[in-house]
Amino acid sequence: MTSATNGPLQSILERAHRVPDTDHFPGVDEIAARLDDLVSNHPDLIAKRRIGTSRLGEPITMYSIGTGPDQALVYAGVHPNEPIGFWTAIRLAEELCADEELRKQTRWNIIGCIDPDGARLNEGWFAGPFNRVHCLEHFYRPAPAEQVEWSFPFQYKDAYFDQVMPEAFALMRVMDELKPAIAVSLHNTELGGVYYYVTKELEGFVDELHAITASFGLPLDLGEAESPVARPLGPAVYEMISAAATYDYTESLGMTPYSGSGASSAEYAQRHGTVSLIAELPYWTHPAIDDQTPTDVPYREVLAAKADALGKDLDALVEIFEAGRPYLSGDSQLVRATAAFLPYLVKRPERDRRRAEQEDPARMATVAEAFGLTDIQRSFRLRFGGMLLRAIEGEIARGSAAAPLHPLGRRMRELYREWQDEAASLDQELRTVPIKHLVGVQYAATLALLYAARREAN
Ligand SMILES: [Zn+2]
Repeated sequence: MTSATNGPLQSILERAHRVPDTDHFPGVDEIAARLDDLVSNHPDLIAKRRIGTSRLGEPITMYSIGTGPDQALVYAGVHPNEPIGFWTAIRLAEELCADEELRKQTRWNIIGCIDPDGARLNEGWFAGPFNRVHCLEHFYRPAPAEQVEWSFPFQYKDAYFDQVMPEAFALMRVMDELKPAIAVSLHNTELGGVYYYVTKELEGFVDELHAITASFGLPLDLGEAESPVARPLGPAVYEMISAAATYDYTESLGMTPYSGSGASSAEYAQRHGTVSLIAELPYWTHPAIDDQTPTDVPYREVLAAKADALGKDLDALVEIFEAGRPYLSGDSQLVRATAAFLPYLVKRPERDRRRAEQEDPARMATVAEAFGLTDIQRSFRLRFGGMLLRAIEGEIARGSAAAPLHPLGRRMRELYREWQDEAASLDQELRTVPIKHLVGVQYAATLALLYAARREAN
């Protein structure tokens, strides 16, 4: 770290460590209420503006605070199953109201929740208990084309995507209007360590992100990268993944690239010279996450074995979904998501098996990699099995289910319970990170990005 960064970073960390603790994540109504309270209490400081409407009719609102001339854009809920950012957005707005120093030089534009429809479908777990079994049973992740993060226009080789949703279109309009110097897309993971994506290599920034992570006692995620195309800029800090890079990689494996989603919000913002950051944070950590000790099993063997195990679970989900699909309502977000994810996910085991063939047989998997690969199977089946289960049981609860859905619902519940029991045994080994630390890291990383981008510009 250079001495020039010590001053700002120190004060950023002090701010971040003052984030108060909380026992839940806010739902759509609480996010709006908290931000609207600030407007009521500080009408002279905050400008509130409606920037769009969700597909189900919820208003999408942006709150702008600070003097500029630089514009910063912070948006939460691009993946509505990732609620840490809801608190980060609220905390940033609260601190901006309370602290004139923070308001100087930058105008912060904060979108508390860009996908309220999706967030409402996750509210079942936002109040806890915070174990993985409960969380993933009430979890909803939109179909790729319906994720605000990945539904920006995309044209590359044979791929063409222009089905931009109203929520993403609202964000596009804001980006075009503000041309922000920095943007922070608020995401999070579930289990693992902390890692980051940034669109541009900024002098000293990797060290600062590491210092922020360490100051909260959180491990960096040094295991299996989320995507094989992610180019590391340093440990657990990657260059932002682009849809084009993922396309090329899939093609290089001799497989057909997925064409059901678009570019990311960061890719869109780049036309304005915006530097974007994502800070990925987990609710739970495990001692294996940053354990680089080699195991006695080659990496390629672990990869191939886990691919086979995941393939078996996905086949079971596909079979149940195909049998039940004629009886499920097509206007359900859960059904649309399942219909989009399963055909896409079933290709992953094959992709991993091909990747395994390219790996050096002499390279042993680290403890972190072996744990990470095992956990992908666990996480996938709990997530997507939970969504299918809710779709079927929801149809039954509506009181209009055709007879064939009942045995499918029972079978899915039974299978899901087995997966939950397996995951529950691991729950004991997990450490739950206090929510205030998660928010603190994201908040600090957001402020640090602003300083790093400014240093670069000067
Ligand atoms: Zn995400």
